Amino acid sequence: MGWIARHLEETRFSPPPEPAPYDLLRDLTAGRDRFVLTSNADDLFERTGFDPARIFTRQGSYARLQCLTPCSDDTFATEPWYRGALPAVDLVTERIDDPAAIPRCPRCGGPVVLNVRGGDWFVESPYAPRGARFAERLEGAASGRLLVVDVGSGYNTPGVIRWPAERIVADHPRANLVRVNLAHPATPVALGDRGLGVASTGLALWRALAEVRPANG
Ligand SMILES: [Zn+2]
Repeated sequence: MGWIARHLEETRFSPPPEPAPYDLLRDLTAGRDRFVLTSNADDLFERTGFDPARIFTRQGSYARLQCLTPCSDDTFATEPWYRGALPAVDLVTERIDDPAAIPRCPRCGGPVVLNVRGGDWFVESPYAPRGARFAERLEGAASGRLLVVDVGSGYNTPGVIRWPAERIVADHPRANLVRVNLAHPATPVALGDRGLGVASTGLALWRALAEVRPANG
């Protein structure tokens, strides 16, 4: 668990190293009825000021631990363990030699893992309410205008963001898809002019939009 504690220090519990894309997107969409669906488990949207109640992290979160078995649907906060364990990490081997600093499942005493999707053992229950809220939100948008902005989702795990984004737009007659992706910006032919691919990073595009946006905008 030593390298996990080090990994958490870098990815979850230190200030975001590059918050600019998140800050710009947050400001560009301020005041809009927005909802975030993300495959990232680092909680960067929440950490950069997006409303946690409107973020669906369907792949889990580094902020939670769970039983590897799992013996129940319980998850528990990573931070108290991480804070205590970090001083016990051998910085050369990235191992924790003190057994007391190794987290165990509070119910069965078995090994624990980060609560992120990586196998059949993944406990999804902490994220289910926001998933349901996301689905409700889409239902509510059925007759209105909807802009789906798909950023950086390629073909590694397209079933998580890329294909759902396309399906949402296909199912909503007044929805549009903007796909921001350097390598794979194409949108489905079936969407016609409701699909727009932009070969760019999110940061470059948000910066350009922020430039042309009226100051009172
Ligand atoms: Zn257990």
